[in-house]
Amino acid sequence: MALVATAVEREAGRLTELDAAIGDADHGSNLQRGFRAVTTALAEEAPKNPGQVLVLAGRTLISTVGGASGPLYGTLLRRTGKTLGEAEQVDAGQLRDGLRTGVEAVAKLGGSAVGDKTMLDALVPAVDALAESFGAASDAAEQGALATVPLQARKGRASYLGERSIGHQDPGATSSALLIAALAEAAA
Ligand code: ADP
Ligand code: MG
Ligand code: MG
Repeated sequence: MALVATAVEREAGRLTELDAAIGDADHGSNLQRGFRAVTTALAEEAPKNPGQVLVLAGRTLISTVGGASGPLYGTLLRRTGKTLGEAEQVDAGQLRDGLRTGVEAVAKLGGSAVGDKTMLDALVPAVDALAESFGAASDAAEQGALATVPLQARKGRASYLGERSIGHQDPGATSSALLIAALAEAAA
């Protein structure tokens, strides 16, 4: 979570620029507000295990980020954390299973799927590639984010633009790639 927060601080400007092209120019500031609150909450409540860390982070995002990405990322982290349960230590396989249930919960909440030009275009290939390695997952997320450029958005604000959403990288897929890169960095 600390590495995600650092990446969000570093990339907030770029995320907001991407959202300016096909949304409402707040994705970077939404995540900045959310992950600053996550950093504070984790420091104050000092959760005892990985599952509790993710549940608290998810709950904090849901309560501090007004945009679509708050409930979606909040659900991703909360559901992943719930799947990890109270385990003191989590191995790569448990994390992969947890993230898969988290990503499935995002798809259900968003009514979205791969190809809709959303965060799922980075998250789904990342979870698939986690079986191989964290590095492979990070590469897959980055490729998935880049692959949103030629797509027409079918969900979220960008979908209101119709064909005009084509030719721009999805901000949420881009931030998801940051999140998975932070995970790979933490694992390394
Ligand atoms: P808002 O659109 O409310 O301003 P953000 O700008 O923070 O929220 O987040 C926008 C991102 O959220 C999009 O780039 C997209 O990746 C993601 N998103 C929006 N709607 C959905 C959805 N229904 N399913 C999955 N992801 C979505
Ligand atoms: Mg926005
Ligand atoms: Mg908004």
